[in-house]
Amino acid sequence: ATPTAVMVATGKGASQGVLIKGGNALEKAHKVKTVVFDKTGTLTVGKPSVVSSVLFSKFSMEDFCEMTIAAEANSEHPIARAVVEHAKRLCQKYGSQNEHFTDIKDFEVHPGAGVSGKVGDRTILVGNKRLMRLFDVPLGHEVDDYVTENEQLARTCVLVSIDGKPAGAFAVTDPVKPEAARVISFLHSMSISSVMVTGDNWATATAIAGEVGIQKVFAETDPLGKADKIKELQLNGGSVAMVGDGINDSPALVAADVGIAIGAGTDVAIEAADVVLIKSSLEDVITAIDLSRKTMRRIR
Ligand code: ADP
Ligand code: MG
Repeated sequence: ATPTAVMVATGKGASQGVLIKGGNALEKAHKVKTVVFDKTGTLTVGKPSVVSSVLFSKFSMEDFCEMTIAAEANSEHPIARAVVEHAKRLCQKYGSQNEHFTDIKDFEVHPGAGVSGKVGDRTILVGNKRLMRLFDVPLGHEVDDYVTENEQLARTCVLVSIDGKPAGAFAVTDPVKPEAARVISFLHSMSISSVMVTGDNWATATAIAGEVGIQKVFAETDPLGKADKIKELQLNGGSVAMVGDGINDSPALVAADVGIAIGAGTDVAIEAADVVLIKSSLEDVITAIDLSRKTMRRIR
């Protein structure tokens, strides 16, 4: 495209809340054959809420909740925010006024898995099964049953281990965005196929994919695994766009021919992307591809 055509198109995009960073992205977007969507915060609203909690150990609910809060308060993940909010409410309910465990040491984020750190002299992990496996925490039947039961209901389980043993868990729901199914069906009518890639577990991922009409799902992938899936899809045919919102999506956003970040997403994702959807609406994935198609058609 000529510099003028690019300027006109990016200007038009910007006025519609679609920020296109330069001519390269604009030129590539018209060739997109596959759009890969992250799940949490991209296909779903990203405002998860806790619907149940359980204790697996002899810690009191207050101690369990306070230690969980200490760990999750440092995480940017939307699931962490839901857990903190719920745990605070539980603390109040169980009459805990004094917050004993507010400080965390050796805090670490494990993208696509959870967080870890030390509260006092106790080691705490908050995250999914993959995190527990990473740290060799044995789960046992009680935990497995709770997880299976909730995943079948499209809920994500947040597991908490203290000193290498399961201490408790939370079940989280996150509704799909109202426009998601419509956008995926419209992409289909444009001969563009949709794929889901997520760090979340297979059962929850499959349930959400069914709700929005996505047939191809890759679940339980870490951030580099997401990028690998993009490369696989590129080999199998055609140009691939990736839509994501999280730090965990940034390698995939970079690997894709067109990286598209949700405006409400994290700064890291926005920096890694070629296109930013300021209004955070999935409809604008179509706006971006459409704009590119029209621009490239005008040129040829
Ligand atoms: P998605 O790919 O769907 O956006 P992520 O890769 O961000 O999801 O996270 C994958 C999974 O890792 C989550 O579903 C959750 O189980 C777990 N996880 C990641 N960060 C946290 C956290 N701070 N607290 C609890 N669980 C987390
Ligand atoms: Mg996400």
